[in-house]
Amino acid sequence: MRPIGHKSDRGLGEATLKASNFAYVRARSISDAVAAFRGCGGEARYLAGGQSLLAAMNLRLLAPDLLIDISQIDELRGIERRGDDLRIGALTRHAEVLTSPLVAEHVPLLAAAAPWVAHPAIRNKGTFGGSIAFADPASEFPAVALALNARIELDNGEQRRLVAAEDFFRDLYETAAAPVEIVSAVYFPAAGANDRFAFDELARRRGDYAIVGTAIAARFSSEAVDSIRIALFSVGATPVLARDAAAVLERTRLGDDDIAAAQRALAGELSPSEDAQVSSETRLHLASVLLKRQLHKLREGAR
Ligand SMILES: Cc1cc2nc3c(=O)[nH]c(=O)nc-3n(C[C@H](O)[C@H](O)[C@H](O)COP(=O)(O)OP(=O)(O)OC[C@H]3O[C@@H](n4cnc5c(N)ncnc54)[C@H](O)[C@@H]3O)c2cc1C
Repeated sequence: MRPIGHKSDRGLGEATLKASNFAYVRARSISDAVAAFRGCGGEARYLAGGQSLLAAMNLRLLAPDLLIDISQIDELRGIERRGDDLRIGALTRHAEVLTSPLVAEHVPLLAAAAPWVAHPAIRNKGTFGGSIAFADPASEFPAVALALNARIELDNGEQRRLVAAEDFFRDLYETAAAPVEIVSAVYFPAAGANDRFAFDELARRRGDYAIVGTAIAARFSSEAVDSIRIALFSVGATPVLARDAAAVLERTRLGDDDIAAAQRALAGELSPSEDAQVSSETRLHLASVLLKRQLHKLREGAR
């Protein structure tokens, strides 16, 4: 795995490949799951696809006392149109996001991002809600949620609340959800006729976590930009919005000079993290190259 699984990042002496002891319970409903969570004397964790959690446990980066399996809860399933939104249930697998006609039609940016998430074996098990709840800063779906300002639905067994993606991703693996709250679904605004989208990332090998990536959503009137949101991922502790670069582009036709000005604005607002793969300067350079490429695609009418 990426940072959390890299022993040198965490100062672990010997890599451990077996989880410490834990209790397991399978929940049949959200209220069941929440009751189990509240009743646990120690640390409890919800288990969805297990593609991040079990690896972290095997490496002893996490050692919950109780795993509450939420993967059989029917009320967490389903993709449906609700008013102006597409609601994606938390248990939707990455592979379903990739193949869903509803996602392709109403949230094309998500459909564009899905092939970049890991490998088929992981996409067959990993869940959409798990990716949002885990909030890995190098993950594709949180960045798409930020670019589209999706709303994340949280359920504490008694009531549900919606949190805008801008307010949800707070710090490294830290979100606005209380530990007991379950991510039950995510609401994405359905794309309109004047919306254009672009997604791309750079990784050493296809399926690896990105070194850097961009997810861009723009609304045009005629050929000019009405509004644009540029989300970058794998640049720091959370996915981030490039607000200054976006401001430079509003009311332009994405001419070459406008794009160059956006790249300068990005350099002024972004201080990417560095790691064993690349320096901060290289990451910024790659982000700038991606931004330019994506803006060209938008200008040409990418959907
Ligand atoms: C080799 C490998 C490569 C990967 N590459 C990528 C990649 O390129 N891009 C990418 O985005 N991901 C990647 N992943 C991670 C993968 O996408 C995971 O599926 C995802 O991050 C977590 O989803 P999950 O359902 O497996 O969650 P789990 O592993 O079950 O849970 C992860 C965390 O989220 C919590 N959680 C899960 N669901 C909920 C919920 N509904 N409400 C509240 N809390 C919840 C759990 O308690 C746990 O803390 C990779 C994983 C592996 C093993």
